[in-house]
Amino acid sequence: RRKSTLPTFDTLQFRYEVLQKLGDGAFSNVYRGADRKSGHVVAIKVAHKHTEEDASGDHLHPSMKKKPRVTERANILKEVKIMQNIDHPNIIRLNDFMESQENYFLVMELCNGGELFHRIVDLTYFSEDLSRHIVGQLAQAVYHLHEECGVVHRDIKPENILFNAVPWIPSEYPKRYPFDDVTKKDEGKFTPGIGGGGVGRIKLADFGLSKIVWDAKTATPCGTMGYAAPEIVTDQTYSKGVDMWAMGCVLYTMLCGFPPFYDESISALTKKVARGDYSFLSPWWDPISVEAKDLIQGLLCVDPRKRYTIRQVLQHPWLTGSTMNKSGFV
Ligand code: ADP
Ligand code: MG
Repeated sequence: RRKSTLPTFDTLQFRYEVLQKLGDGAFSNVYRGADRKSGHVVAIKVAHKHTEEDASGDHLHPSMKKKPRVTERANILKEVKIMQNIDHPNIIRLNDFMESQENYFLVMELCNGGELFHRIVDLTYFSEDLSRHIVGQLAQAVYHLHEECGVVHRDIKPENILFNAVPWIPSEYPKRYPFDDVTKKDEGKFTPGIGGGGVGRIKLADFGLSKIVWDAKTATPCGTMGYAAPEIVTDQTYSKGVDMWAMGCVLYTMLCGFPPFYDESISALTKKVARGDYSFLSPWWDPISVEAKDLIQGLLCVDPRKRYTIRQVLQHPWLTGSTMNKSGFV
């Protein structure tokens, strides 16, 4: 058998050994690696540098012209700057940043358990308990970003939510299952990723599209001090809503195994999203609690002013486990 060949990255490989490809995103390839000094395993995101030749798009296959795999310097530096300022158990940590002639390298903590996306595909759908376990952690991450860092992620989706370690899946899946209780006593069977943490711990990755909407230190809108037009202030406030909408889509998809909005045609899909045209299809949604449906409705609300904020999500009965009073929700 032919030995698999990995690309060489001189600047990087002086300090880190590149071991194997983990995934590829729209703008990068991500590899498993190891720190040559400490032996610690890491994840290394390699983003190709933007060059004049790339900019023309002439070197690309026609199908790729709209999506060149190149990265603007300002964009990658922004991603690095945002990640460097974040320290949260449910958000991927950035350990190191390097660049060579051709590439940027983001050295991050490794998440061994793969994408939430793949776990949904494996299981068809998640139980409410497992979904709560995931969304609860995601909500903690988003609370930290929105309320403590002034950052909007803007690309929350199952591909960017990673399991710290390979989660243990009960063989009877798919079935409504108290995932958290069951995993605790089985924790020893698994090798948690670097940084420890329990089985089933998730971390939010990919700050490539994220944006700082206010300065965390002064709690003021970015670059504006009293001169900001209302639409800018409004935009900064409601831009957080994009993450809330995305959380609604993630939760919906976890609970039934298909996304809330789907159409073969992009233009039809766009219209459905704009109208908030989704439904709780029978029979898939029949056994799901009214609390879960209420949370989804609050998140997939077309008017961003009425959409749930992260604070409302954290207080929502579906997450806190408190039962709703009868008059509360239809
Ligand atoms: P892009 O901006 O190109 O989408 P991502 O940061 O999302 O890049 O990384 C692409 C993919 O690489 C992810 O969807 C995931 O599968 C994998 N990946 C990214 N970061 C890590 C990590 N820290 N540990 C393990 N896998 C990762
Ligand atoms: Mg990604």
